[in-house]
Amino acid sequence: MDFSFAPEDIAFRDELRAWLDTELPRFLADWTDDDTTVDAFERTQARRKDWQRRLDHGRWAAINWPTEWHGRGATPVQNTIYSEEMARVKAPGVYNANGIWQIGPMILQWGTPEQQQRWLPGILSADEHWCQGFSEPEAGSDLANMRTLAIIDGDSYVVNGQKTWVSSAHLAQWGLFLLRTDPTAFERRAKHEGITAFIVDMRTPGIECRTIRDITGDTMLNEVFFTDAVVPVGDRLGGAGQGWPVAMSTLGHERVGTAGLSITMAADLRAMVATARSVNPDAVRDPALRDRVGRAFAEIELTRLLNYRALTKISKGQPNWPEVPLAKLQWSSIAQTLAELAVDLLGPAGVLAKGGPDAIDGGHWARNYSWQRYTSIGAGATEIQKNIIAKKALRMAPRQ
Ligand SMILES: Cc1cc2nc3c(=O)[nH]c(=O)nc-3n(C[C@H](O)[C@H](O)[C@H](O)COP(=O)(O)OP(=O)(O)OC[C@H]3O[C@@H](n4cnc5c(N)ncnc54)[C@H](O)[C@@H]3O)c2cc1C
Repeated sequence: MDFSFAPEDIAFRDELRAWLDTELPRFLADWTDDDTTVDAFERTQARRKDWQRRLDHGRWAAINWPTEWHGRGATPVQNTIYSEEMARVKAPGVYNANGIWQIGPMILQWGTPEQQQRWLPGILSADEHWCQGFSEPEAGSDLANMRTLAIIDGDSYVVNGQKTWVSSAHLAQWGLFLLRTDPTAFERRAKHEGITAFIVDMRTPGIECRTIRDITGDTMLNEVFFTDAVVPVGDRLGGAGQGWPVAMSTLGHERVGTAGLSITMAADLRAMVATARSVNPDAVRDPALRDRVGRAFAEIELTRLLNYRALTKISKGQPNWPEVPLAKLQWSSIAQTLAELAVDLLGPAGVLAKGGPDAIDGGHWARNYSWQRYTSIGAGATEIQKNIIAKKALRMAPRQ
């Protein structure tokens, strides 16, 4: 293990810090007023757009993209530094996280030069919102079981079927979808074959988004129905039948985004202890709760070190294995531990939901208690991560 940064990484961090020190206060000053004439959700979207554009102006929006696409070709270590610095200053989220972190890099990897010219500028400038449609009612953990059909007809594909759990599909202009172009793959017992990736214009006739109300009451998730929707052959990303390797490259990018979490989680833990001191002071003297707070801090530190160990391996050219599934498990476990701890520390005040006159921190802790359940299913379910560790790291034989 080597925790010291190379000189170029220190220079990267210092440049980012200097930019944030100047630009973030300016941005926050422009967005401090509580304009009640604008819908809260619309205002959040507008704020994120503005922040992403400012980041792009400083060449800090898409650090993993190459320099000719206004990126920095950042290394994994620089990705970690970036996430940690953004978490340290509590930077706002960007408008198009999906597009910048996952779909953009895939278009760079798999798209033709024409496709790159067509789609990348809109992602970067926050002019267009993107979603990612992989999951289906019978294809989640077992993603290769997908059955939404795209059948070729001249220079187009005709699409029929259903996707589900697609985040912000109802707001998106474009979506990256995986579709079944060769249904015979099931008969051939080769379901990872016959899948193709497409960039789909969400305004195409025959596409309908229906929002799903989640456990917190929010409606960001969607079912997406296709009925004879026509998608041009030119909007295929990669070749026919290449969808599985395309998908695997996206999921690889998805896992890059978790590095700053230990800083965010440590800040959350400090914030909940501080809030408990004012609204439920007996809790901070309770030995059982103090013990849980201490353990949570230790777990967060362990996650940070696990991430650094994976990075050290990558920088030495070794596979970061099995730290990736371990980090996912560690993250989901701590996220839920913290969510439960907050409610216990804050006592009755912790369950006051947003909208009520006495809600603490705008009802954040009560919402978080429900919301964090997603961490053990999104980005690879807990049992699946454990299966991977058992099979590939521990080489355990499957149960007969
Ligand atoms: C907040 C959120 C946002 C999402 N956004 C998107 C999105 O934008 N686009 C998209 O395509 N999808 C999205 N998803 C869907 C997500 O990818 C799936 O929920 C995930 O892949 C799990 O699939 P599933 O929901 O079908 O659950 P299932 O795969 O049916 O799993 C249900 C349970 O069974 C367990 N299980 C399944 N198989 C096994 C096994 N072989 N061994 C042991 N246990 C098993 C799982 O661990 C889980 O506990 C999102 C999900 C969430 C929660």
